[in-house]
Amino acid sequence: MEYDVIIIGAGLAGLSAGKVLNEEDVSYKIIEANARPGGKVYSREYTDRYFELGGQFINQDMTEMTRLVMDAGMEIHETDVTEDAVIIDERKNTDVETILEAEEKLFKGLGERDIRLSRLYEKNITDPYHRKLISSQHSEVLNINPELISSKAIAEMMKRYLSSKSDTTHQASGPLNNVVSYLESFSKDKIIYGQPVAEIGESKNGYIIRTLTNEYQSKSVILAIPPTAASRINYTTGLPEKIENALKSFKDGAVIKITWVFEEAFWRSFSVQDEVHRLKEVIYSEPEGINVSDSSKAGDENRLTMFIGGDTAIKLAERTLDERLEYAVSLLTVVLGEKARYYIDREESVWVNDPYYGGGYSASVLFEGVHNAAEILRNPYKKLLFSGSELSSDFPKFMEGAVRSGKHAANKALELLFK
Ligand SMILES: Cc1cc2nc3c(=O)[nH]c(=O)nc-3n(C[C@H](O)[C@H](O)[C@H](O)COP(=O)(O)OP(=O)(O)OC[C@H]3O[C@@H](n4cnc5c(N)ncnc54)[C@H](O)[C@@H]3O)c2cc1C
Repeated sequence: MEYDVIIIGAGLAGLSAGKVLNEEDVSYKIIEANARPGGKVYSREYTDRYFELGGQFINQDMTEMTRLVMDAGMEIHETDVTEDAVIIDERKNTDVETILEAEEKLFKGLGERDIRLSRLYEKNITDPYHRKLISSQHSEVLNINPELISSKAIAEMMKRYLSSKSDTTHQASGPLNNVVSYLESFSKDKIIYGQPVAEIGESKNGYIIRTLTNEYQSKSVILAIPPTAASRINYTTGLPEKIENALKSFKDGAVIKITWVFEEAFWRSFSVQDEVHRLKEVIYSEPEGINVSDSSKAGDENRLTMFIGGDTAIKLAERTLDERLEYAVSLLTVVLGEKARYYIDREESVWVNDPYYGGGYSASVLFEGVHNAAEILRNPYKKLLFSGSELSSDFPKFMEGAVRSGKHAANKALELLFK
């Protein structure tokens, strides 16, 4: 049987593409490498609580995600962080927020020539400690050592974040698994799990898609997978150099996420330089790439989440779970004191070096890669369409970007099929 469209990947992008196709008179299948849908969105649910192992936060300008949360039967709740809450570093310096404002000016004056992100700090930030802090923040946010990253690509990506609000102001009232199940319901009998696509060839009418054990035919293909995962597929008839180079320009991130639940939110009356403050975030200058945030929802449990990104995550992924947790808790105690050891629950997720999800929040463009790789890949090649959060023209690297990108690719596939 030949399908009109094969979608590769059942993350938010692939499932959103499926929802669009489901509304039209077209035949399609979704082929997913892993045994579950959702990709980098996955809630671990227990009887009394749940944890988001991957994507968690949204804001109200992220309209697609906001609607999906409500369509899945949930509400949007505020993250419990007040205006006056402060961001400090592990040295307890209250001025960190003003230091971080340097980031806004960082990309101004970036000329035609691309430079490594770390070089941009050297050029534009005079204070070595401020450089260190921004570098650490970027290692966490991008999940990659800034030494490896293209400044131009990051500047372009940031322009596509279409909101003046923080990306963490809101969360769903329940597990995001509900959003995944809601999206999955539109394609229920059309998803094939546990079948990594290894090869794509061209046929007379379209494409032959091969997994290790099966072969599928379609007129059109949507690759709703990270660009790094797409670059690991063998294209038997080759791809134009421009597309191949764009795919190869991306590098996977690396992230470890740990959430703790506490009886009391002791970080909300915290002494910083003899004044009592409410803590919003701690950015560690050392080791690089670590951030701890108050991730509690208003009226809900008291939670702190540590995000460990880049080289630090790669190194820690090699240790045992117990070693990682002890290391993470000892970092918490450096700032918050021994109280941080007395949590009532915790959950950890390691997203490092996964061939299908990628290793971090998303993949980024390498220095000396093609800085506008996302833009190149947004254009279909014949009836082959690349999709996924990294490539989105709006809110790239976020769940919102994944949904928008999947919908966009499906509409484009329909246009190409019927023209
Ligand atoms: C720890 C963590 C925290 C995050 N926090 C946030 C947050 O708070 N807010 C936010 O907006 N975003 C967050 N993100 C990012 C967000 O989760 C992603 O941007 C988004 O979910 C990506 O969706 P996607 O569909 O593009 O890709 P993915 O979720 O990666 O889905 C791709 C799917 O394709 C499959 N696949 C890959 N290769 C193949 C193949 N060869 N054959 C078949 N199937 C294949 C994969 O198994 C996967 O299921 C976070 C991510 C992580 C890891």
